[in-house]
Amino acid sequence: MHYAELPNGRRMPVIGFGTYRIDPKDTREAVSQALSMGYRSIDTAQLYRNEREVGQAVAASGIDRADLFITSKTMTEGYKPTREGIERSLERAGLDHFDLMLVHWPNSDHAGTYRALEEAYQAGLLRAIGVSNFNSDQIGELCEQADVAPMIDQIETSVYWQQRKMHPFLQGRHILHESWSPLGEGRSRVLEEPALQAIADHHHKSVAQVVLRFLTQEDVIVLPRSTNPAHIRENLDIFDFTLDEAELDRVRRLDRAESVENWPSDMLQEQY
Ligand code: NAD
Repeated sequence: MHYAELPNGRRMPVIGFGTYRIDPKDTREAVSQALSMGYRSIDTAQLYRNEREVGQAVAASGIDRADLFITSKTMTEGYKPTREGIERSLERAGLDHFDLMLVHWPNSDHAGTYRALEEAYQAGLLRAIGVSNFNSDQIGELCEQADVAPMIDQIETSVYWQQRKMHPFLQGRHILHESWSPLGEGRSRVLEEPALQAIADHHHKSVAQVVLRFLTQEDVIVLPRSTNPAHIRENLDIFDFTLDEAELDRVRRLDRAESVENWPSDMLQEQY
């Protein structure tokens, strides 16, 4: 496994298993498969309604908790509901801590919402904290009020939406850049992109593997999701090849700054 270092010195795998849109009844099986194949980071959220099943798979895996990195995300607004939500998430997952908790999306009370995360971090219930879908202004505003700066921003990032403005902004603030929908949610046709296929053929890899390798070489943490065992395995098998500078450049040129989602404009990080 390859790791990235969080600003607080902890480390996290650069590839994790995404669980959005995995039905709760299928989650335990999918996460168990991912863990048995070598994934050590799992991304869930209150919104996904599968924290309990993620926790069940973790408990059944027999893997040392210290070797796992479990992320969840809030869906509450303001201090009190968020504090209670964190406690309920831990209860549901049967865990005594999350390795990372994110404010899932911008809301009308960033300061109060994030303060609940800071307190839980200081109490050891959360080992790292951050945000998701925040743009640079929202992060700047939060940092002015926060005691513990956000350590991660999880934002939509794929070959077609490379976040060329947000990435340097986050790096400048020592905030890790984590990608959601690295494979374009299966809807963007990125896996049919001829330029990527040519690179994949050259390395005897799949296009999905080239996309995930590209993003990790660009210092972006990825969270591919699948319930297909062959794809789950394939997506993790990306560290036995490296894209050279010419290949990286070719993939960089595929950027269209194009989101797969129709997000409200304040959730589309820095257009370019
Ligand atoms: P993704 O980009 O991981 O794409 C998933 C799709 O790709 C599925 O249809 C899957 O069947 C297909 N796929 C996966 N591996 C493949 C392979 N090797 N070959 C061919 N097809 C393959 O989509 P996602 O689930 O939207 O994003 C990943 C994770 O990011 C989520 O599961 C979730 O954990 C997180 N996420 C977070 C937010 C947020 O707001 N913070 C939003 C969306 C997703």
